[in-house]
Amino acid sequence: MTDTGLWTRCNHCGKILYIQDIIENVSVCPACNFHFRLSGLDRLTTLFDDGQYQLIDEDIYPVDRLNFVDSIAYSQRLLDSQKKTGLAEAVINAVGKLGGIEVIICSMDFAFMGGSMGSVVGEKITRAAERALAEKKPLIIVSCSGGARMQEGVLSLMQLLKTSASLAKLDRSGIPFISVLTDPTTGGTTASFAMLGDINVAEPNALIGFAGPRVIEQTIKEKLPKGFQRSEFLLKHGMVDGVVDRKALRRYLIRALRLFLNRPSTA
Ligand SMILES: [Zn+2]
Repeated sequence: MTDTGLWTRCNHCGKILYIQDIIENVSVCPACNFHFRLSGLDRLTTLFDDGQYQLIDEDIYPVDRLNFVDSIAYSQRLLDSQKKTGLAEAVINAVGKLGGIEVIICSMDFAFMGGSMGSVVGEKITRAAERALAEKKPLIIVSCSGGARMQEGVLSLMQLLKTSASLAKLDRSGIPFISVLTDPTTGGTTASFAMLGDINVAEPNALIGFAGPRVIEQTIKEKLPKGFQRSEFLLKHGMVDGVVDRKALRRYLIRALRLFLNRPSTA
């Protein structure tokens, strides 16, 4: 979106639109159905019953353990992202009800360092999975992430193992875990928890993959097909279980949870 006060231009279809119409349409372009990126908190509001939830695991903050500096210090990047988003880290954990069912939702925020997975993101995902196991509540993770956080080096890569191990325990206990993949879900996030759901469901046209297309083309020395690494392509090739519009996502998740929990609709 290109904002100018009350109006904005959809960068996808080029139409000039009233911003309020887009917001009321869960940040989806009313003209072309392009899904704009949601913040982590807005995502929670769109999913939980009546937009009501309680934040959990809020007391963990990232640290610059390696004293890493690229163009600016990692510690400064963290402060900047915290100031910009008002969040402690790139993922928010919350509990609440979805279709009357108590669930835990982890919601990633791309505005916080590209939704990258550092140690604290891994820890929060793991805590959510452990809580789901202890309290026997289904877990939903909404990914929006460029992958592992390079500024944390190997500490970041270790989160792939840690999150996957906690989800394996959840899997063995038969508690449902649904992974929602939104634009973008790439790198280490795809290579760990985002692809481990009992159901992996994507929003339309989301970029989903591990390595970027340029790297793949250079490696296999072939031109990639059109739409490669987009939700619809992945669905066609069996990599995701569904592509669901944001407006239908809540209903889809409730239906899936009822199915897993053998709890038919009372409505
Ligand atoms: Zn549009």
